[in-house]
Amino acid sequence: MPSSARCYVEISTGRIASNFEAVRDAVGPDVDVMGVVKADAYGHGMLEVSRILISRGARWLAVSTVAEGRQLRDAGIETDILVMAGLLPDDFRTAVDLGLTPVAHSTSDILRFEEAAVAAERKARFHLKFDTGMGRLGTRETPVEVAGVLKTLHVTECDGLLTHFASASDFSTPQTDMQIARFDGIGREMAALGIAPRYLHLSSTATVAYARPNAWRTIVRPGHAIYGYVSPAKGIAPESALRVSPALAWKVKVVAVKDVPANTLVGYGGIACVKRPTRLAILGAGYADGIPHRLSNRGKVIAGGRFAPILGAVSMDLTTIDVTESPRLKPGDDVTLLGREGRVSINAQEMARWAGTISYSVLCGIKPRVERVYVE
Ligand SMILES: *Cc1c(COP(=O)(O)O)cnc(C)c1O
Repeated sequence: MPSSARCYVEISTGRIASNFEAVRDAVGPDVDVMGVVKADAYGHGMLEVSRILISRGARWLAVSTVAEGRQLRDAGIETDILVMAGLLPDDFRTAVDLGLTPVAHSTSDILRFEEAAVAAERKARFHLKFDTGMGRLGTRETPVEVAGVLKTLHVTECDGLLTHFASASDFSTPQTDMQIARFDGIGREMAALGIAPRYLHLSSTATVAYARPNAWRTIVRPGHAIYGYVSPAKGIAPESALRVSPALAWKVKVVAVKDVPANTLVGYGGIACVKRPTRLAILGAGYADGIPHRLSNRGKVIAGGRFAPILGAVSMDLTTIDVTESPRLKPGDDVTLLGREGRVSINAQEMARWAGTISYSVLCGIKPRVERVYVE
């Protein structure tokens, strides 16, 4: 049954589960799949998605911040939780207390974590990230420097080595192969220094979909695929090996419908002017709900089973569309921003293209005031 909310997303728990299974099938039984649920599970609801993944056997979840890890622990979630996006100085003790597994990005991170664990009188584990060419987080210290510090630890232990790819879906550059080679070189040097952590991981969605099994190792870290997306590849790429489909549909109600004559200006700035007598529908959501402002006068939605163009500026709480072709639409009816009506559909990649952004940003941009509804 559709929600009575003014603007809502409908999230299919079955789709989340089957997308997760698709990743598992792709990498096979010897590789673990860590569900990336950062940023409120890309807008899908972190707790709900985490529970679905755990019910399907997920042993690892990944978040960006200690605050996100705390939300999971507060909800009673006991799986291993990797905190990927860096810890601030005050976060280290919290991570120890909550039993989170931080990613360390330098030997000073490692020493701070050790200090926090000593103070808490607890044992704790962390993973260590190397910058193999992404040029963002990850240490650029040498294995010798890192190993020197690891050997001084008493209560903490390096349980995993990881890196992150900059251009994983781009087959026109050797960047990914170079990053894999660097990671392997580091792994060999560490092993020669007597350090061989249990987990090795490099892959997010792209290197699973455009299968590079030499980047899978012991765990993969998919986010996008779990929500039903694989970014298009560049260059000469293999077919995506993942059969996933979007788990989220985004709906908004019509607040008002009215007919205007030819030459009427529509909305802020009068940036649209209708050429013919037009039926307008005013939708109950705007950029404050996450509809990209860049869709002004260029995006479309699905109304009454057919595409309807956005007219004029997307405003904070309202968006106007042309429903001349869907004359039966009335206040209270649902219109589809993302999802399918019959044979017509819009996905986050298409909306992103119209808005000049990426699907990740569209999904993460759906604001908290948009009601989340979970369906089979
Ligand atoms: C977000 C993130 C992922 C997941 O990436 P997807 O492209 O959504 O699969 C994996 N690893 C790290 C370090 C990330 O930040």
